[in-house]
Amino acid sequence: MAGAVWAAGMSPACDLCSEAAVFLDRVRGRHLCGHHLILDVEERVRSTLGEYRLILPGDRIAVALSGGKDSTALLHLLGKIAPSLQGITLSAITVDEGIAGYREATLRVARDMAAAMDLEHRVISFEELAGSTLDSMVRRGEDHPCSLCGILRMKALRVAAEERGATAIATGHNLNDEAQTVVMNCLRGDLRGFTRPPVMGPGGGGMRRIKPLFRIPEKEVALYGMLTGIFRELPECPYAGSALRTEARRILDRLEYLCPGTLARVVEGQEEVSAIWGGMPGGVRAPE
Ligand code: SF4
Repeated sequence: MAGAVWAAGMSPACDLCSEAAVFLDRVRGRHLCGHHLILDVEERVRSTLGEYRLILPGDRIAVALSGGKDSTALLHLLGKIAPSLQGITLSAITVDEGIAGYREATLRVARDMAAAMDLEHRVISFEELAGSTLDSMVRRGEDHPCSLCGILRMKALRVAAEERGATAIATGHNLNDEAQTVVMNCLRGDLRGFTRPPVMGPGGGGMRRIKPLFRIPEKEVALYGMLTGIFRELPECPYAGSALRTEARRILDRLEYLCPGTLARVVEGQEEVSAIWGGMPGGVRAPE
């Protein structure tokens, strides 16, 4: 765990005001109250958007809204930021993989949130895209549901985003997700994956895929969701987590606890590698 969170009545004061702190940022060595944590997360996302030019004037951004903590936080945040950007429109896409006992609850959250924000919301299912639910594929012997799910979900997002004339797809990947992916690519010897930039800036043509939360640790995204009132307890996917991702997560969480800042350094290091290898901005150009 990178940060510490306290129960009410036990916490020290915020370093920026006299309110009780809800969070200790161990990387920057400061306590933050709920109000300042919200401002801090929003400011860091704004700065990521500006630094990488992730959002361009007139962009039509399709937000991948699973209904989970990351995607709901992302949509909430972009909804707050969008009015200050030039001519940005937001819409939401939810992919229904067809996972019984899991997807129904998150779909409800996604529908409610899109309706509350008055956004166009497209639900696209694996059944519609591939003629079968993920559950049926697993019943027929699919051994790696997460790998297949990842490929089909990206395809579904692309199809739905193209239908809407979107210029970019925004996903809710956070810092922990990105660091885990870097480690997994190393362990698999996946050079192409390892040199792929964590975010796509402008250029490269076609629809961009952007990750505005990629510098925000998972704990802070979850706290942001709780403090802004959008966080919902949801069931976990029954196929959750490949063995490799679970192991990468375990190792990185331990290292982050022992050495705060490890997650950020892993992602920053990968950014440098992808830049040196010609992947920034706009695409992967690993040597053949
Ligand atoms: Fe798909 Fe795996 Fe995520 Fe479940 S845990 S939604 S199967 S990627």
